[in-house]
Amino acid sequence: MAEKSTFEPTEIDTSPYEVLTTLRSDGKRKWMYPTESKGRFLFRRRILGWGLVVMYLALPILQIGGRPAVMLDFVHREFALFGLMFYPTDTLLLMILMVGIMLTIVLITALLGRVWCGWTCPQTVYLEFVFRPLERLIEGPEHVRKRRNEGPRTPERVVGYGVKQLAFLIISVLLSHTFIAYFVGWSTLLEWLQGPPAENWGFFLLTTLVTGLVWFDFAYFREQMCTIACPYARMQSIMLDKDSLIVSYDPTRGEPRSKRSKKSLDEESSGKIEAQGDCIDCLACVRTCPTGIDIRDGLQMECVACTQCIDACDHIMDRISKPRGLIRYTSENQLQGVKTRVLRPRSVIYGILIVLIFSSFSMVLATREAYDINIGRAVGEPFAELQDGRIANRLRFRVRNQTESSSTFDITPLAPIGTEMRIIGASPVELQPGEMKRIEVWVVIPREAFSSTSVEGTFKLSFSDGLIEEPSFLLLGPDSDK
Ligand code: SF4
Ligand code: SF4
Repeated sequence: MAEKSTFEPTEIDTSPYEVLTTLRSDGKRKWMYPTESKGRFLFRRRILGWGLVVMYLALPILQIGGRPAVMLDFVHREFALFGLMFYPTDTLLLMILMVGIMLTIVLITALLGRVWCGWTCPQTVYLEFVFRPLERLIEGPEHVRKRRNEGPRTPERVVGYGVKQLAFLIISVLLSHTFIAYFVGWSTLLEWLQGPPAENWGFFLLTTLVTGLVWFDFAYFREQMCTIACPYARMQSIMLDKDSLIVSYDPTRGEPRSKRSKKSLDEESSGKIEAQGDCIDCLACVRTCPTGIDIRDGLQMECVACTQCIDACDHIMDRISKPRGLIRYTSENQLQGVKTRVLRPRSVIYGILIVLIFSSFSMVLATREAYDINIGRAVGEPFAELQDGRIANRLRFRVRNQTESSSTFDITPLAPIGTEMRIIGASPVELQPGEMKRIEVWVVIPREAFSSTSVEGTFKLSFSDGLIEEPSFLLLGPDSDK
């Protein structure tokens, strides 16, 4: 279809005074009808895109070590990441990981430009390989849809629109459930789904809200997410440099551009008339651009590097028997005849920093404690005096199993000498991998142990894997002078 419409007259506004390509001069939204340009890049992006769609759907279902491959569980304050578990005490680890990931993104952007935006971002992947293909299937190709939408409201148009929105809604419901599964897991989600909405109002409202947002994004907001909402896009200017890989038009080869017939082009090739630039000003590259920009105006923030214009222009070059690559992956330096450098100060510094950060991450992870133990005072009186004169403190042990296997443990007092302990509940205590339990205990201390209003108590936690921990906690008593 793209081939057919390539030489059609166009109404594309290429005014240099336009601020946003998605806005009309009267401030209203200009709806985009980007044509699909088949070619080598679309073929590769489609394969990758479908692979990613499967991956995005599968990650919360896939189990690694008995847990979802990726799950950010806010309720239990746990984060599962490909078999690794992070707990509230792992703030430092998570910070290191986040900084490492951010720096990696910065390095990838410095080297490969907006490859994330054009090839792997869920916004691009779902829009270009799920929603737009569905739209084409139901309402026809872009030029047909544009003509129909700009014409009178016919029954055919209304039915087509209704069917499309219904299909979008169904996909949005699936995506919203997948999104929520990243936070609660599919098993919990299925439990909630099987129960009546009245029992899970929170979930029902959240799903409705997320479905609405997903639908709004892909049915209406679309490219504006990239051009006006995405913070990553705003930071491009500081992340890219003259050696970064960009999708660019080659003005040296393309200019002076002019519309001309096949006959004129043949005459140019045979030397009968003076040769012009290779760009025949057909606007196929503009018509296919999902953000509506003209790549020939140079590098622009709205360009998501989707490569659609490369495929569109390559096709035109094939048709007019010129070499492909008038629009291509290149760098600003390469366009100016300077060799692109992969190794440059910023890429070397980022690379070194990334190695250091991920090495620190691995070290901190490897030395992370197997059990996180926290002792606190139970609610109520700080201490009680027993009839026999001994002092009782009620404490709360919070123990989390940070290992990958289940374990049991018991607690015994080590100091002060003569201290006794009674666990409220079953002992030894069982802990599944990642599980955290709170155990309340009564600690009874001989009065002689107090030389002031407090004394340090030491406890021994013996775990079934042989590990022994000996935490301390301040035990309270009466003023010994009274
Ligand atoms: S750059 Fe290529 S696709 Fe764009 S107008 Fe020129 S010839 Fe047509
Ligand atoms: S200019 Fe080309 S690469 Fe950039 S967004 Fe438009 S079609 Fe995609």
